[in-house]
Amino acid sequence: MVETFKNYIAGEWVSASDGAVIENLNPATGEVIGYFASATREDTLRAIAAAREALPAWAALPGPARGAILDKAAQIIHTRADELAETLTREEGKTLAESKAEVLRARDIFRYYAGEGFRAGGEVIPANTPETLLFTKSEPLGVVAVITPWNFPIAIPAWKIAPALVYGNTVVFKPASLAPHTALKLVEILVEAGVPAGVINLVVGSGSRVGDTLAESKDINGLSFTGSYAVGTKIYEKTARNFVRTQLEMGGKNPTIVLNDADLDLAVDIVVRGGFGLTGQACTATSRVIVEQGIADAFAQRLAEAARTLRVGDGLQSGVQMGPAVSAEQLQTDLDYVAIGKQEGARLIAGGEPLRSERGFFIQPTVFDDVQPTMRIAQEEIFGPVIGIIRAKDFDDAVEKANQIGYGLSAAIVTHDLQKALRFADRIEAGVVKINEPTSGVALQAPFGGFKASSANTFKEQGQAARAFYTRTKTVYVRYGF
Ligand code: NAP
Ligand code: MG
Repeated sequence: MVETFKNYIAGEWVSASDGAVIENLNPATGEVIGYFASATREDTLRAIAAAREALPAWAALPGPARGAILDKAAQIIHTRADELAETLTREEGKTLAESKAEVLRARDIFRYYAGEGFRAGGEVIPANTPETLLFTKSEPLGVVAVITPWNFPIAIPAWKIAPALVYGNTVVFKPASLAPHTALKLVEILVEAGVPAGVINLVVGSGSRVGDTLAESKDINGLSFTGSYAVGTKIYEKTARNFVRTQLEMGGKNPTIVLNDADLDLAVDIVVRGGFGLTGQACTATSRVIVEQGIADAFAQRLAEAARTLRVGDGLQSGVQMGPAVSAEQLQTDLDYVAIGKQEGARLIAGGEPLRSERGFFIQPTVFDDVQPTMRIAQEEIFGPVIGIIRAKDFDDAVEKANQIGYGLSAAIVTHDLQKALRFADRIEAGVVKINEPTSGVALQAPFGGFKASSANTFKEQGQAARAFYTRTKTVYVRYGF
């Protein structure tokens, strides 16, 4: 029998007020693996009210005490890592190795922010008058709404919820409808670790019911969103009306430049990992490879070979290197873009077909050559394992083509030439720059966020940077000499 799961509001596991549920599918088999309570507007408002009520006590708790709860959560994630990874693969599709890495990353994020409980503080500033203490206090922002995508169903919630909690905020968490089970388990773990009632609330449900209610609320103080540009811009219009502090991290169309001097094996490996890893369903995935003409033929041939030999299948099976698209719709989007690429005159040199022998939503790793920077397949985020090769005359031409795009999340270059590598870091319009590394994969202790249409460009996420978003500063003047 397929299990039905509940939301977590004001310290209780509850069904939706109208009894509605969302179906969760395994994208590798098409099977229903769970039903999830689909929160209504009323449920969401109740979650916001619960977070508001729980705020003063949680904010008043000393930082080290909040940190200790996060530390406990990290320990539970560690103990349950294999089970969490399996849940993640079953509902999202990425390979078990990819899921395990993501789960351990979430554990480390909780460890990292547990320590923040000891560190976060204020600053003492020289005053203008004698015997005066002038200092800043770092206070929690307040009630924070967290809206996350399906492609990193534990890491992204972790890198928003962990800093939110440790800095004293309370949270209403709306995970993506395509991968709610991992999110629910994370909430279960937080509850077990000792997060009090109302401090964390889970509202699984549709973007239009739950998401809109959160974005339109006057009773939240912050909203942190990761997802598509289309949804992000709609949210921003709503939160702006209420001056709700908003963080949006959105799509990408990330380039990897391969220069003539590049080690061919390294370049192919970096592009395969960046472009086909996680089935290309990463905001930082490589989708454009800009290759200097001297190495272009050899590189294209090697990349096509690598694409053809990648083992695609159910991520739960050992030896599988690439899982399915997350849903039938995403698979259709991927296939539509393959058709568009062909129509636009790009040359398909590997893949492009669904895997008809499998029951799930599988597509072959796909490579187009002779892609022009203005083609739709070079401009629009596909969010699948589809790589376009754009040929460049020289280094300057390559950087110019890399920047010829609305997005600016991540960008990489493969070269031994230090001068060109560092000039690339100077000139590229992207929030993350990688030299001889894939565009995907970032350190949890370093700031993360995009430029241009990849971000609202307000606050960075992760590391110490998260503190700016999740706290507000109060300036205190104390005159003790009269
Ligand atoms: P999405 O469709 O934008 O959804 C993201 C979240 O927003 C989901 O929880 C979704 O709920 C919710 N939502 C949908 N409509 C909403 C509305 N009107 N108001 C408020 N919330 C709403 O994105 P996705 O398909 O899940 O994820 C893929 C996208 O995320 C890609 O564009 C990718 O580049 C981006 N991404 C960016 C980063 C980054 O750090 N920059 C990281 C990972 C992914 P439902 O699931 O119920 O629709
Ligand atoms: Mg699913």
